[in-house]
Amino acid sequence: MKSRILVINCGSSSLKFALIDTASGDAVLTGLAEKLGLAEGVISFKHESGKDSQPLTEASHDAAMHAIISRLRSLDLLDSVKAVGHRVVHGGEHFKASALIDDTVVAEIEKCAKLAPLHNPAHLLGIRTAVQQFPGLPQVAVFDTAFHQSMPEQAYLYAVPMSLYRDHGVRRYGFHGTSYRYVSAEAARMLGKPLAETAVVCAHLGNGASAAAILGGKSVDTTMGLTPLEGLVMGTRSGDIDPGVFGYLASELKLDVNGVTDLLNKQSGLLGLSEISSDCRELEDAALAGDAAAILALEVFSYRLAKHIAALTVALGRLDALLFTGGIGENSSYLRARVMKQLGFLGLKLDEAANNAFIRGKAGRISATDSVPALVINTNEELMIAQDTATLAGLDA
Ligand code: AMP
Repeated sequence: MKSRILVINCGSSSLKFALIDTASGDAVLTGLAEKLGLAEGVISFKHESGKDSQPLTEASHDAAMHAIISRLRSLDLLDSVKAVGHRVVHGGEHFKASALIDDTVVAEIEKCAKLAPLHNPAHLLGIRTAVQQFPGLPQVAVFDTAFHQSMPEQAYLYAVPMSLYRDHGVRRYGFHGTSYRYVSAEAARMLGKPLAETAVVCAHLGNGASAAAILGGKSVDTTMGLTPLEGLVMGTRSGDIDPGVFGYLASELKLDVNGVTDLLNKQSGLLGLSEISSDCRELEDAALAGDAAAILALEVFSYRLAKHIAALTVALGRLDALLFTGGIGENSSYLRARVMKQLGFLGLKLDEAANNAFIRGKAGRISATDSVPALVINTNEELMIAQDTATLAGLDA
C-alpha cells in the first residue's frame, strides 16, 4: 500500500490541497476550493486522468473537505492517506519547527492568531475540519515563520521600546520560510556544496514577495516583519513605507486603523502604482507595449528588490548565489533581468539568452559563466510540508 500525505493550505475563503506520495514526492491529486463562505463555491481537481471542477452548493470548508474525500474515494486513493499536513502562516516565537498537532499546539496557534488575524483563524478552521473528517490520522502544522526563528536579535528587533517586544511580541518574524527551506537546499545541490557551507540570498516573488539571507541553510535576515506587509513591493501591498504615512493618511483621509491597513495591504503595490493591475504578467505585457505607468510600477518593484538583495548580503558577508522563486521569480525574465543589471557590483552578470529561454518547471542558471551564480528554482512548499508531516508522523522508514 502506498503512503501519501494530504497537504492542506486553508484560507478564509479558499482551501488548496495536494496529495503527495511520500516515496516519489509527486503530487498525485491537487485542487483548489474557492469562494467558500459566499453563495456558491467551486472546487477544481487535477489528476493524471484530467482536470475538472464542480460547484459546491454549501460553499463551506466542511463541504470542500467532503468533496475532497469523495474524490479520493472515487479515485481509490483514500486509504493511502496516512497523515495530513497543514500550512500555518504564523507560529510566533513558540514554533521553531513543524509540530504534530494536539490540543496544546492548537492553543498556541490560536495565541498567534492576533499576529496573523487574516490567516491563522482560517488555518485553525482547516485543522478542525481535517481532524473531524480524518479522525485517527496524525496531523502536522508547518509554519511559514519557523525557518526565520534563527535570525539574530540585531535582525529581528525593531528600534521601539523593548517592552513592546517583551509584552506584545512586536518584532520581525518573516514569512515564506517553507519555500526558503526548500529552495536553499535545492540551491546547495545545484551548486555542488554542502548546505552548511552556502551563503545565498533568495527572492520569493509571488503576489506576496520577500527576500531572505540564508547562511548555512539558516535564515539570518529577511524583508518581511511582524506582518507580511514589510519589505518588497508586492501585488497589492506597499512593502516598506515611512510609518509616519500611517498617521498622515489617517488624518488627511479621515481613515481609522482598518482603513489605512486596508489601503496599504490591498490597494497599494503594483496595483496602486500602475493603476492597471496587481498581476505582474499583465503589467509586463503593458510595459512591453509601452505603457508608462506599467513600466514605472515594474521599475519601483525591481529597484526596491535590488536594494533589499544588496542589503541582505550584509548579513552574509559574501554571496555564493542569488536565487529566484515564486510565480514572478520563476517566470518573469523581464524583472529578473532588471534586478540582475542593478546588482552588477555584487559580481552578478546576466546570461540574457539563458534568462529568456528559461522554461518554468526546470531549475536552472541564468548568470554568465564568470558571474556569481543566479539560479531560478521552482519552489515546492507542498513537498516540504509533506516531508515534515511524514517525519513527525513516523512514516519515513
Ligand atoms: P504566486 O503568488 O507565486 O502564484 O505568483 C503570482 C504572480 O506571478 C502574479 O503576479 C503573476 O502575474 C506572476 N506570473 C505568473 N506567470 C508569469 C509570467 N509568465 N510572467 C510574468 N509573471 C508571471
